[in-house]
Amino acid sequence: VSKNILVSACLLGENVKYSGGNNFSSKLTALLRRYDVNIIPICPEVLGGLPIPRLPAEIIAADIIDCNGQSVLAEFQRGADAVLQRAKQTHCRIAVLKENSPSCGSRFIYDGTFSGTLIEGEGLTTQLLRRHHIEVFSELNLAELENRLKKEYQDEEK
Ligand code: SF4
Repeated sequence: VSKNILVSACLLGENVKYSGGNNFSSKLTALLRRYDVNIIPICPEVLGGLPIPRLPAEIIAADIIDCNGQSVLAEFQRGADAVLQRAKQTHCRIAVLKENSPSCGSRFIYDGTFSGTLIEGEGLTTQLLRRHHIEVFSELNLAELENRLKKEYQDEEK
């Protein structure tokens, strides 16, 4: 069983966010350490060629638009493709991605009005991974993630 798991780099403390900061989650990293998984850090937006820092972007209908009104769909798609490729190369079946992001969100995304309003939805990378049967969790559903890790690596918990 592959112990490789894709993880949003910003959740691991890498400064890859649009603002130049990160979303470090000590609870997530502690959980992953407990199950001794191999972390494959990924940031789809950086892999897609976008700079750090960059303008915030939100999904609007079938497009992704930055806050100046420019489409960044091509970069987001390129990033999602690169993440899928990485998942395949490393035989990842599970990913833990940052909630609410237009790339990484798995339950919620912003509604496209740049007003901080969340709606149910998935980021572009999450959509692609799920279409390829990779399970996507977030830092906000760690109990579910832990159940999944238990099932996968039952006998190997430290
Ligand atoms: Fe984090 Fe994903 Fe945004 Fe990259 S694209 S900063 S990994 S939420």
